[in-house]
Amino acid sequence: MAAKSPVIIIGAGIAGLSLARVLQENGIQVSVYESSSRSAAQGYGITLRSWAYGPLVDKLRINFDEFRSAVATDGSVGGIGEINPTMHDALTGKPLIEASPSQTGSPEGEFFRANRNRLREFLLRGVDCHFDYKLVSLDMDEGAKLLNARFANGAVVTGSLVIGADGVFSKVRTTFLPTVEPSIASTVVYNGERQVPRSEFDSTIAPYMPHTNVHAAVAENTMISITVTEKTETEVTLTWTYTHQPTRTQSPATLLGESSAGLQVAILDAFAALGQLAPPFSTALAPEKIRQDRLYHWLMRTMRPPQDGLRLMASKGVAVIGDAAHAMPIFAGEGGNHALLDAVKLGQHLADSYSPASIDAFIDEELPRWEMASVGSEKRSLSLHRPLNIWRTLAEQAKKH
Ligand SMILES: Cc1cc2nc3c(=O)[nH]c(=O)nc-3n(C[C@H](O)[C@H](O)[C@H](O)COP(=O)(O)OP(=O)(O)OC[C@H]3O[C@@H](n4cnc5c(N)ncnc54)[C@H](O)[C@@H]3O)c2cc1C
Repeated sequence: MAAKSPVIIIGAGIAGLSLARVLQENGIQVSVYESSSRSAAQGYGITLRSWAYGPLVDKLRINFDEFRSAVATDGSVGGIGEINPTMHDALTGKPLIEASPSQTGSPEGEFFRANRNRLREFLLRGVDCHFDYKLVSLDMDEGAKLLNARFANGAVVTGSLVIGADGVFSKVRTTFLPTVEPSIASTVVYNGERQVPRSEFDSTIAPYMPHTNVHAAVAENTMISITVTEKTETEVTLTWTYTHQPTRTQSPATLLGESSAGLQVAILDAFAALGQLAPPFSTALAPEKIRQDRLYHWLMRTMRPPQDGLRLMASKGVAVIGDAAHAMPIFAGEGGNHALLDAVKLGQHLADSYSPASIDAFIDEELPRWEMASVGSEKRSLSLHRPLNIWRTLAEQAKKH
């Protein structure tokens, strides 16, 4: 193994850029190749948890307050991405399960809301990142023990280790494990995004969202939420999400088959079926607002490659991290946090010993965490989408204790 060859990271998402930063901090030469262009937006909000960002902040020796201000959804107006995770009843507006906001020293750990674009800008600092480089194939020069990464733009890059941080459809993973495919969960996911003037947000929605960038509620087998994705002095970018767990009488296939032209109708029907929503949903998700939104229909994918497949890749100097290694439900899952932690853990192994054996050690140590997180997130997703009467019963029981 040619120790001086650079590490090649495919994908400039959370996992790839975090790993690049950790390796650079340890004096290892690394280059990142990303299929999208530099200006492509990744503007949604994500809840970062201290068990994941803490190790990264420590490894990079950066100040946590500076990190949070730089990446928080409301960082540009002095905010710290506060979240109150209390779950509300979507029809009455009342809190069902009260939860403590993130607090310093809380045993559950701390958390805050980050904006993906801001997080990417922060992680990109000082990284040798090449945009518009889409990996199309990866092959090994067995004699030289070097890997050749070939890109759609014709470039070929050679290195001794290749890390696939290229998301759920990872080209790196499918090159070696073509039969490992993500499965699609039956959960229906609708999402909308809009910009509103700050004055309108402050008068109509902010009163229902004190000290939080996320307001979540449940209805029948459904969870809805409004989140602040970016806040400035003059404007707020809001996203809302509707996730629904179909009952057995509904076929996921037909629910997933909606054409884009029918998406608006499907979403309006889905909200109408919930009944009269309480504020702030009644105003924020009124049909006339939804008709103006950018609308999306997402699929929730899950995937866990087998250990022997990961070991086969390791023997060739290839590893996968983040969603390329373990796709989890995007709501109720913690894929982004595990992507951060993967980067720190693999970065430490490679800093200790720059070899395929380090990838083996990484897999052995982290696979149990990936499996627990995947199973946990699938269970959490099911319990969040319970019938409303069960939520209400649980809330009554919680009040009595
Ligand atoms: C709306 C939404 C909300 C979410 N909320 C949360 C949350 O609150 N908490 C949480 O923990 N997680 C959350 N997630 C999940 C989280 O965003 C992902 O788990 C995380 O982004 C995974 O990071 P990654 O770096 O592994 O992959 P990605 O972020 O998918 O990055 C992969 C990168 O690889 C690039 N790429 C792909 N193929 C190629 C190729 N062939 N060549 C070169 N580059 C390539 C892609 O363009 C992309 O930039 C959320 C996801 C969504 C969509």
